[in-house]
Amino acid sequence: MRIMVLGGDGFCGWPTALRLSRDGHEVTIVDNLSHRRIDGELGVESLTPIADIDERLAAWQRVSGRSIAFRNVDIAQDYDGLRSLLSEVDPDAVVHFAEQRAAPYSMRNSATKRYTIDNNINATHNLLVALVELDLDAHLVHLGTMGVYGYSGDGFEIPEGYLDVSVSNTEGQAATRCILYPTQPGSVYHLSKSLDQLLFQFYARNDRLRITDLHQGIVWGTQTEETRLDDALVNRFDYDGDYGTVLNRFLVEAVNGYPLTVHGSGGQTRAFINIQDTVRCVALALAHPPPRGERVRIINQLAETQSVKGVAELVASITGAQLAHVDNPRKEAESNSLQASNQTFRTLGLEPILLRDALLNETLEVVERFKHRFNPDVVPARSLWTRENRPGVLPDP
Ligand code: NAD
Repeated sequence: MRIMVLGGDGFCGWPTALRLSRDGHEVTIVDNLSHRRIDGELGVESLTPIADIDERLAAWQRVSGRSIAFRNVDIAQDYDGLRSLLSEVDPDAVVHFAEQRAAPYSMRNSATKRYTIDNNINATHNLLVALVELDLDAHLVHLGTMGVYGYSGDGFEIPEGYLDVSVSNTEGQAATRCILYPTQPGSVYHLSKSLDQLLFQFYARNDRLRITDLHQGIVWGTQTEETRLDDALVNRFDYDGDYGTVLNRFLVEAVNGYPLTVHGSGGQTRAFINIQDTVRCVALALAHPPPRGERVRIINQLAETQSVKGVAELVASITGAQLAHVDNPRKEAESNSLQASNQTFRTLGLEPILLRDALLNETLEVVERFKHRFNPDVVPARSLWTRENRPGVLPDP
C-alpha cells in the first residue's frame, strides 16, 4: 500500500512508519516538526538523543535498504500543501497522528489552549476536506484516546465507541438509538479529540469516507524492533512535566534516585499500551479497513488498566524507589475505576505486552543508558488545571 503517516516524526508515528516500511509499504511521512519546536520552547529534551529527521531517514535507508519519503507540511495551516501532497501520493491509507497531544501543555495558558484547538481541529478537518475534494478513497486511521471518556468511572465497561440507548416519545412509543459513547473530556487536548469524533462521524456519513478511530491508552515503552537497529533510529522518551507520561516520570525518577512523585492519592486509573503494540494495532487496523458507507469504526486500543499508585508500586518493586505524594495539578476525581473493552484487537489476534512483564527491560535498556541526560528541573508539572492548584516541586533525592 501507499501510506501517508501524518505526524510520522513523533513518538508513535516514527516507529509506525518504520514498521510499515519494513512490511513493504511505500511510506511518506508528513510532519511540521512542531513537537521538536515545542521542546525548544519549553527548554526540554527527549531523554534519548533523537537524530534530526534527515539523519533518521538516512539511517533507515542504510539498515533496511528501504526509503521513506518526508515532507514538512503544517497540515493545520497549509491546506493547499496538504491537498497537493495527497493528490501526488494518492495514498491507499492515511494514518493521522499529527496533533498536539499533551494534556498538560493544552492547559498551560490561553495561547496553548487556543493552539491545541486550532491545530488539532484544523489538522483533522483539513484532511477530511481534502480527501473529499480529491475524491480519494484512502482509509483514514486516526489515533484518538481513551481519555475522551474522562475518568469518573462507575464500574461499567466502556464499549468500543457506541452505546445503544432506549428512547420514548410523548405517546409512549419506545425505540433504540445507537449514539457515540458520551465523552467527558478532562482537558482542552481531550476536548479536541472529542470534537474530532464528530468530524469523523459527519464525513463518514455525508461523504462515505472510510475511517477507523483508535481510542488509545497511555503509551509506554520506547523502542521497537526497528528503532533498535541503529542509534539514529532511537525513539523519543519524554519525561518533562508537559509531554512526559506518568510511567516515564516514574522511571527517570527511580533510576536517578528520586522518590516517585504520585499526583494526589494515585487512585486515578488509566489505560496503558506498549509502543510495540501501538505499532501492531495500527498495522492490524490498516489490514482490516471498514467498507465504504459504514459508520466510523472505533476500536479501543489498550492492553490493561492500572491505577497510578499501582504503576508506582510496580516501578518501586523493580527499582527499590520510595513513593512521594505531591499535589495533583489536574482537576479530576481522587480515584476512579476504569474498565474498557479491547475485544476487537483481541479478536484480531493481539496478545498485548503487559507492564509487569516488560518494565524491567525498559528501565535498563533506555533509562539507565541515557541517565546522564536526565534534567530533574523539567520533571514537575507546571501546567495547572485551575487557579487553585499549586505548582509542583520535585522532592529531594
Ligand atoms: P507526538 O507529539 O510525539 O507526535 C505528533 C507528531 O505530529 C509530532 O511529530 C508533531 O510535530 C506532528 N504534528 C503536530 N501537529 C502537526 C501539524 N499541524 N502538521 C504536521 N505535523 C504535526 O505525539 P505522539 O505521542 O506520537 O501522539 C501521536 C498521536 O497519538 C496523537 O494524536 C495523540 O493524541 C495520540 N495518542 C498518544 C498517546 C500517547 O500516550 N503518546 C496516547 C493516546 C493517543
